[in-house]
Amino acid sequence: MSRTAYVNGRYVPHDRARVHIEDRGYQFADGVYEVIAVVGGRMVDAAGHFTRLERSLGEIEVPMPMSRAALRVVLDETIRRNRVRDGIVYLQITRGTARRNHAFPPADRRPALVVTARDMTFPTDAETTPGVKVVTVPDIRWGRCDIKTVGLLPNVLAKQRAAEAGAYEAWLVDAASGAVTEASSSNAWIIDAEGRVVTRPKSNAILGGITRESVLRLARDAGIAVEERAFTLDEALAAREAFITSTTSFVKPVVRIDETVIGNGEPGATTRRLLALYLAHVRDPGEAAA
Ligand code: PMP
Repeated sequence: MSRTAYVNGRYVPHDRARVHIEDRGYQFADGVYEVIAVVGGRMVDAAGHFTRLERSLGEIEVPMPMSRAALRVVLDETIRRNRVRDGIVYLQITRGTARRNHAFPPADRRPALVVTARDMTFPTDAETTPGVKVVTVPDIRWGRCDIKTVGLLPNVLAKQRAAEAGAYEAWLVDAASGAVTEASSSNAWIIDAEGRVVTRPKSNAILGGITRESVLRLARDAGIAVEERAFTLDEALAAREAFITSTTSFVKPVVRIDETVIGNGEPGATTRRLLALYLAHVRDPGEAAA
């Protein structure tokens, strides 16, 4: 089926979708993005993604190219035109096209907006979802990982190390503290010796995942003990369970970190429970999707 992209006000065939060579996203990674899951034709946690998008834009001083409501129409229309039932919608906003110069161009420049959508297969069953292996790499990123910028080179290099090792993800480890910050494109979690669900608190050192937020809420609502604190790689290697969360991975059990088997090498009971809760949430997101 032919795909359609939205580029600066027009719906165009995907294979002919273009931005200018002096788009600042291309030259400086001067832009931000969001990836939103689509389940049953409907965006999951759209409100959370819009709020994070507005925050990312605010931090880099790029205005929203249109209102939240108008943006939602463009996203829904891109999903519809690509006939996506289960998949993702991707949106990218850059500071737009201007003659190359590091400083911001004059304020009359419009930000550039690109939207694409495509099918994707998500986990459907918490009981049979297999666990994955992750590798660890030093976290060499900048000091504002809370901004969802398209500047993803360290993440790209980390994911490539994982791919070369036959692993699903790369966990990023802060060299100074030995703490796990997050993963190359997901947030990192463990279940500690006391059975508590642990993930690093939001700060400039990690991207505040929308899935992370939903899983924290679902866990608390289910009476599962949760702690937002930093944990070291050593603690993770000795953890009962480990998993990652992201828009595309949902809740993904981690059963090996580098050469160390986590727990008994099978996805743990608490991880499976959190995945089951998350699957129920994406199928019937309720008020959080507004
Ligand atoms: N951390 C990083 C570095 C990411 O790229 C992502 C996914 N874009 C996440 C965490 C997870 O965020 P979300 O749950 O919003 O997909």
